[in-house]
Formats: sequence, C-alpha cells, structure tokens
Amino acid sequence: MKISSPVSSTPPGAPIIERIETLLLDLPTIRPHKLSVATMNGQTLMLVRVYCSDGIVGTGEGTTIGGLAYGAESPEGMKLAIDTYFVPVLRGQDATRVQALMDRVGLMVKENRYAKCAVETALLDAQGKRSGLPLSELLGGRRRDRLPVAWTLASGDTARDIAEAEKMLGLRRHNIFKLKIGAKPIKQDIAHVAAIKRALGDAAAVRVDVNMAWSETQAAYGMAALADAGCELVEQPVAAAAALGRLVRRFPTVLMADESLHGPQSAFEIAKTHGADVFAVKVEQSGGLFAAQRVAAIADAAGIELYGGTMLEGAVGTIASAHVFSTFAKLQWGTELFGPLLLTEEILAQPLEYSDFHLTVPRGPGLGIALDEDRVRFFQRDGLHKTISVNE
Ligand SMILES: [Mg+2]
Repeated sequence: MKISSPVSSTPPGAPIIERIETLLLDLPTIRPHKLSVATMNGQTLMLVRVYCSDGIVGTGEGTTIGGLAYGAESPEGMKLAIDTYFVPVLRGQDATRVQALMDRVGLMVKENRYAKCAVETALLDAQGKRSGLPLSELLGGRRRDRLPVAWTLASGDTARDIAEAEKMLGLRRHNIFKLKIGAKPIKQDIAHVAAIKRALGDAAAVRVDVNMAWSETQAAYGMAALADAGCELVEQPVAAAAALGRLVRRFPTVLMADESLHGPQSAFEIAKTHGADVFAVKVEQSGGLFAAQRVAAIADAAGIELYGGTMLEGAVGTIASAHVFSTFAKLQWGTELFGPLLLTEEILAQPLEYSDFHLTVPRGPGLGIALDEDRVRFFQRDGLHKTISVNE
C-alpha cells in the first residue's frame, strides 16, 4: 500500500509557502579565533527567510566554522542548495506542517544537514509567530529559561587568554572556559592549559577542544597530562569514533564527542558502545532542531551526558539552539552559545541577554527575536543576494 505524503493535500485556506530568500552576511570577529583546523577573522551567516501567504515570515540561519575547514557544507553551498533544490520542493506547500515539510525535503535532498537546519528553523519561526508560541513550546516545552554559557579562549596567546578570562569573570559573563588546542606541539599546549587553570583557580572551569588534531597515542598522553593540569573535559581529541571510544574511562578527565556526531544515527552508533561520556549536541550537525532532540534522547537513554554546542552561529542560529537546549531533560555541561558575542556587529533590533553567566531564552513567538533590517542590508554580501519568487 502506498502512503501518500500528508503535505500533498493542502487543506483549503491553509497558509502556503510563497517564496524563499537566502542571503549571506559577512561579519567581522572581535579577534582572530584560532582552532586546530582554521583561524577565523570573520564569520559568514547564511540567512534564509520563508515568506508565507498569511504574511508571516520565518527566519533561519546556517553557519560553518572556518568555511569548509570543519565540515562538508559552506555558507555559499547552503545558499546554492536551498535556492536550487529546497525551494521547488517547498514552494506552494502548507507552511504549517513543519515536520512533514522536512520529510518532503529529505526525500529530495540527502545530507546537507546544515542547510536543512536553517530551513527547519525558518519554518518553525513562522509557525511559532503564527500560533503565538515560542519555538521552545513548539518543541515540547522549555524546562529552563536561562542557559549557562561557556566562552572559548582561542587568541593563541596564553597571557592574552588569561586576561580575557579574567575580564569575563569580572563581567560575570562566563565562568566556564574552553581552550582551543591541537595546532601546537602537545607539551606546549598542555603548558598553556595548565598556566590558564593555575591563574584562574577554582573561580572557573577549564575544558579543552582538540578538534580531532591528535593521534590516539598523543591523546592518551594528553588526556593524562590534562587531568593533572586540572582540565575537567576534553572535546574530540581524535577523529575516529572508534579511537574516541577506546579512550573513554581510562582517565579522570571527561571525554566529549563533537565532530563524530552527525545526527541521531551516529549518536546511536556511539551510544551502543558508550563511546563518549558527553555529547556536544549541535542543531546544524544534527540536521535540524527535531533531530537534535532525538540525539539528546539517545544520549539520555544511554547514560551519556549533554552539552549544548555551537557552530559559532550568529543570533538567529544561536537562539534556535537555545530554544532546543531549553527543552532537554538534562543539560549537565551547559552550553557554549556565545557565537553572537564573537562578532563585532549587532544585527538584532534588541540584543540578546547575556548576564550572570547565562543566556536568557527569549519568550516571544517563534524565535522571539527581530533582525535590524538596515544592518542586515549593510552587511549583506554584494552581488549574491537573490530572491526566488513563486511567480518566476
Ligand atoms: Mg568542538
């Protein structure tokens, strides 16, 4: 028996998707952000807007870390994929059936998890505005209004990182610090971590992200030395999920999977062998907001703890993530939703609320934020702006 797609028959009067617009915004960062995979001097946001026949517009965002240095998608690639392949699938469809719409996209578009996340965010933002509910409520209901937010120290210079951490502690903005290591010789990196932990003492938690830069033997040495240095968590020291699994529980430092998580299926594979202590859940890496919730459910069932990760999204992607993380039953390691704070420019009409080491999850309908359209136009990449209309 053939089961027809629920979106194939749009009820009379239902709002439909009229057009979808994508644009790229290039924003400078407050300082170079040095990772083992790339040094970022700016961030490109791919914004997608879904215009519906009831006048409601939903916004979503896709970003990557260092262009194509981190994963398979780039902001430019997401724009192309949406303009060329997502739009024909979505145009004219019932805008209110978000999960069915994403199923429909999934039939025609394999992979492209970041682009799917951006589009799903825009559809949910529109549906939230339409129903008067925040995204968190469409996702099952928030369990918390404020999320702890870690800050990443990645200037590449120990003294500068310590000064930056002390400033953040003084401002009561962050008291969890993640250090990006892996690009320098291992002993130098560990001395850097130890110096920062010594300087900050018990006032702050220190964690590291190696972004897969170490071999398994380097990681075994590194995990032991980092435990001695007072580092509480090591994120993705090696690339292979199997190698990560062999390192778990051998050291007093907690091991977190990040790059090896590619959505629910990979989460299940890692969970089967308890191949990590913690999952860094990212909405883009997961392939969407609902998929990120499924990753969290798998982690919970397997006794794996949770952390809310970032692809260094701007305000739109960060708040989409915040709504999802606010619904998690457990969020033992907090979040790193600091992406907008890494950018020099505000693109929201009203800035996000970061205070007392937390980010407040907005309460308004949809994402609960509004873009400053003048600033969006100002930072939009020249020549690539394109609107695809239903009338084309
Ligand atoms: Mg990471």
